[in-house]
Amino acid sequence: MTAILVTGGAGFIGANFVLHAIERSENTVVNLDALTYAGNLDNLRAIQSHPRHIFVHGNISDSCLVERLLIQYHPSAIINFAAESHVDRSIDGPGQFIKTNVVGTYELLESVRRYWLGLGGVAKKQFRFLHASTDEVYGSLGETGRFTEITPYAPNSPYAASKAASDFFVRAYHRTYGIPVLTINCSNNYGPFQFPEKLVPLTILKALRGEPIPVYGDGNNIRDWLFVEDHCSAITLVMERGRIGESYNVGGDSECKNIDVVGTICRILDEITPDLKVGSREKLITFVTDRPGHDQRYAIDTTKICSELGWCPRETFDSGLRKTIVWYLENQWWVDRVLSGSYKLERLGLGNNSCYDSAG
Ligand code: NAD
Repeated sequence: MTAILVTGGAGFIGANFVLHAIERSENTVVNLDALTYAGNLDNLRAIQSHPRHIFVHGNISDSCLVERLLIQYHPSAIINFAAESHVDRSIDGPGQFIKTNVVGTYELLESVRRYWLGLGGVAKKQFRFLHASTDEVYGSLGETGRFTEITPYAPNSPYAASKAASDFFVRAYHRTYGIPVLTINCSNNYGPFQFPEKLVPLTILKALRGEPIPVYGDGNNIRDWLFVEDHCSAITLVMERGRIGESYNVGGDSECKNIDVVGTICRILDEITPDLKVGSREKLITFVTDRPGHDQRYAIDTTKICSELGWCPRETFDSGLRKTIVWYLENQWWVDRVLSGSYKLERLGLGNNSCYDSAG
């Protein structure tokens, strides 16, 4: 039986990927996660006693632990989701982003290098290291154009800069040491288990509570949106058939202004669970001070993954949003438990507070 090592598999995308991998393959999944504020074992409740899921509480920077896991389970692939992932938190406290995304990825690559050099024959040839990156490394677009895999990196937030640095280390470990790496640069994900500091779940929860729904600046910033399950299928495909050393852009072909994302969520909620007291939830939309350095537009050209690997997203933005909204409505227990921690849907990222001070 083959094992894969997933890092950050208790977070939003990682947990969706672990569930996907357990359901659709025979692989044993070793799931290494430090359980930061964003890591949540509730995301993995459906497989908590599954014989092919092994959860390990630990840090990607802990090379003794990582190397023990590599020797013990002999994974044929590593998928690296472990990261600090929220732009607003990176504005309040960039240091943690450098520690996790840059130094953490470097430490992980060092462990992988020692492991991979010790492999022989088929195991060495078949091994893959897949790194989950973001479209934010490319910076901001004007009114036209899309990011391709050869768009120069121009990160604008501390989060994007830390991801760009990690991508460069991944690339360098391939070019210098021959590690068989693959990188995916994906657009904004949404779906089940997303921590409610991000736009889609934050809007759903604020709208359901009848509270003001914050929209940064004029709401005209544009992002591309991808349902998380479609990201998981792209990762599987790239891992199995992607060309070593290459990066692949992944997106939903769903460009949307933030204000339209919020408006659509309000209208879907009004349709499936009307609030007679509030009426139209769009009334709750409140424009707030813009995010410092807010990128204007991201758009993804997915020609490479579509033409080389035959990938395409299954969900439209409307169908994916509906699934996501229904999931949040049906999983109030999950929401209650997430919000019983230190995060209470408050505004982050004005650069005048550190969201890491109290957490240590
Ligand atoms: P997330 O913040 O929900 O989850 C990150 C997970 O990593 C958490 O479970 C956390 O506990 C874990 N983690 C953090 N530091 C760790 C460490 N040092 N060692 C081990 N585990 C650690 O993030 P996400 O939204 O699931 O994103 C996953 C990856 O995909 C990130 O690399 C992110 O940059 C990238 N990405 C995210 C999006 C998106 O829209 N969410 C889009 C493109 C790319």
